[in-house]
Amino acid sequence: MLEVDKISAGYGGIQILWDVSLNVQQGEIVALVGANGAGKTTTLKTIAGLLRQMGGSITFESQHIEGMAAHRVISQGIALVPEGRRVFPYMTVRENLEMGAYTVKKKEKVQENLEWVFSLFPKLKERQSQLAGTFSGGEQQMLVIGRALMSRPPFLMLDEPSLGLQPTIVGTVFESLKVLHKEGVTILLVEQNVRKSLEIAQRGYVLEHGRIVLSGDSKKLLANEEVKKAYLGI
Ligand code: ATP
Repeated sequence: MLEVDKISAGYGGIQILWDVSLNVQQGEIVALVGANGAGKTTTLKTIAGLLRQMGGSITFESQHIEGMAAHRVISQGIALVPEGRRVFPYMTVRENLEMGAYTVKKKEKVQENLEWVFSLFPKLKERQSQLAGTFSGGEQQMLVIGRALMSRPPFLMLDEPSLGLQPTIVGTVFESLKVLHKEGVTILLVEQNVRKSLEIAQRGYVLEHGRIVLSGDSKKLLANEEVKKAYLGI
């Protein structure tokens, strides 16, 4: 579904990514893991069209998307849940969700997508009139995921959805990704929580200093001695 081939990217002439290649097949959850500053966010931003790549190619469903503006990438069916859980605090949950449907032209479609998101996350339905700013961290994470789903994307990229959440809530967020996966959404998950993300993913890539250093079946990566030592503290 997504094929990233040897992309390089950076900021203001400083190169951060070096020949990063990865692919995601339809129906997979693929984890991109690595330490702080490894370049995970930069990779997602490049795919999403928020950062121009310096070289390499990106294809989505066989279409070249490198160099495309971000709004056009979204309309191809790729959605990004950025790091940081930014909700519109003084808007209601429902209004926040509706903001996510700005690329959807037909009103009936917006309503249909809203019903779909509500069916996935019933809590959002129950609290649809509540101001988003009053939500807890975990609830806000659900809301930003729900907002990204309002364009009904077949492909979802998430940047550190568990970052800064209480351990008890982290499990809920990962459970919700399993629900999305069952619904047929293909997922590229960026995480510092290496164990949890490799546990729900089928395959994984390890990024270090802007380069992919390991990749493969996630169970094998979890059992890999280097991964254990560097990321799992075993
Ligand atoms: P984190 O978990 O901290 O988000 P990451 O793996 O996602 O880490 P990136 O955010 O992609 O890493 O950052 C990779 C490198 O790029 C870091 O050295 C960072 O300082 C640098 N960087 C990130 N954003 C910018 C920017 N806007 N301008 C300049 N350098 C940046």
